[in-house]
Amino acid sequence: MNAFCSQCGEALPPDAAFCPNCRQAIPAAAPESEPHGIVIGLMWLLTFGYFIFFSAKSAGMASLCGVSSFGMGIYLVTRPNGTDKANGWIRLGIGIVMGLIYFAQATQRV
Ligand SMILES: [Zn+2]
Repeated sequence: MNAFCSQCGEALPPDAAFCPNCRQAIPAAAPESEPHGIVIGLMWLLTFGYFIFFSAKSAGMASLCGVSSFGMGIYLVTRPNGTDKANGWIRLGIGIVMGLIYFAQATQRV
């Protein structure tokens, strides 16, 4: 953050309050954004729904829940907030594991 002065383009030391070249005041780093609590909650709800529909052999609803929650996971890992990222990565990890299980089952069926 604030790698270069917005006024003169001088490289800035980390946490500098003023530019060492032109004395331009450096705005404090923006506080980390709030976690996307609603998105995280909805993502896990849809993930839960995915497993419910999957065990009920409702393939259409399962894939709908799976794809939408996986998409939310991708969205969350791109957020700057650490909580968002962590939840997103866990969701993507589950998605990859489920994908490998499908793949293993599909190859066994041949
Ligand atoms: Zn400067």
